[in-house]
Amino acid sequence: MSEQWQAGRLDSDLDGAGFDTLAVRAGQRRTPEAEHGEALFLTSSYVFRSAADAAACFAGEAEGNVYSRYMNPTVRTFEERMAQLEGGEQAVATASGMAAIMATVMSLCSAGDHILVSRAVFGATVSLFEKYFKRFGIEVDYVPLSDLDAWRAAFKPNTRMLFIESPSNPLAELADIGALGALAREHGAKLVVDNCFCTPALQKPLSLGADIVVHSATKYIDGQGRCLGGVVVGRREQMQELVGFLRTAGPTLSPFNAWVFLKGLETLRLRMRAHCESAQQIAEWLEQRPEVEHVYYSGLPSHPQHALAKAQQSAFGAVVSFELKGGREAAWRFIDATRLVSITANLGDAKTTITHPATTTHGRLTPEAREAAGIRDGLIRLAIGLEEVADLRADLQRGFDAQ
Ligand SMILES: *Cc1c(COP(=O)(O)O)cnc(C)c1O
Repeated sequence: MSEQWQAGRLDSDLDGAGFDTLAVRAGQRRTPEAEHGEALFLTSSYVFRSAADAAACFAGEAEGNVYSRYMNPTVRTFEERMAQLEGGEQAVATASGMAAIMATVMSLCSAGDHILVSRAVFGATVSLFEKYFKRFGIEVDYVPLSDLDAWRAAFKPNTRMLFIESPSNPLAELADIGALGALAREHGAKLVVDNCFCTPALQKPLSLGADIVVHSATKYIDGQGRCLGGVVVGRREQMQELVGFLRTAGPTLSPFNAWVFLKGLETLRLRMRAHCESAQQIAEWLEQRPEVEHVYYSGLPSHPQHALAKAQQSAFGAVVSFELKGGREAAWRFIDATRLVSITANLGDAKTTITHPATTTHGRLTPEAREAAGIRDGLIRLAIGLEEVADLRADLQRGFDAQ
């Protein structure tokens, strides 16, 4: 074999490289096979040259791969690339977005700690905090995302963590991440931001003042609805706690899924740009419709936090929600009249999806809790994909024609 590539050497000199270059190249280490694409290491374990070598690797005295719950070269490439894209020191990949949230809390909090969570978070996130973390002695309180005074008033002496999603789902409410990060620091707590809706292509919470970023890579990082995965990014000492938890508890990312996400990252910014441009056009069109009571999209000047969205994000995302006059019947008639968009609760896919939050993603809330969250019966959520805008508009017109 030629000496084309020295095993383990980093692929490129990426000092000072921009986002799109990192998204395509960061973290790749070529093997002596000189492969151009990232290698996929589908292996659960690794071999040693000798018994002594194995003992040294297990003891951590020599560097070497031991077992894929501990480390995997394909997963490591994905972790390094995500760390660089988010501007963090280290990333840890997980089996799903929920596993990323679980690992963050389990490794950084203990029984007796208090966590503040923003009201409008992903449904399974609420269940994880309410049903499971509380069972293990973690106190949890919920705070309206954009109300800084409410956050200030909610701290207790044992508050260790603030957990938010910004922008929120489905109403596109924002938190001022810088202000919330400063508040967390004042109280010795960590600010964790679920950056799933923006991805680092639109928003970098660590540079705004967050301590930790979590992702469901299942959404825009994959971008084509194939694989489940997640990732946590932050400073090295915090990530060491996560590495320890993941190696022991085991919700690690499959190398195959990591490889798919590496391909997804290569086109992340191109896709996000296209998603956002189409979402803006659809939001503006919906706002003109007499059948529509209200459109929730931070790219519209009518959005109360439009200025904050402009300052904190480089674009406004691809989730557009709107409220139809006529309640649940009108919303269901609208959804059932469409023929192109997919009736599903997922998002972050090339295919546009349409959802009725009140009876699906937020169906388990009591009517009072839904009302308090601002999720009315006439609300429809669109996660705009990559189809032609004209075709999407024509399909949504079917919904209006059915009213
Ligand atoms: C989907 C989602 C999650 C959970 O991710 P999974 O990969 O499905 O486990 C967490 N947070 C947000 C904002 C999500 O949209």
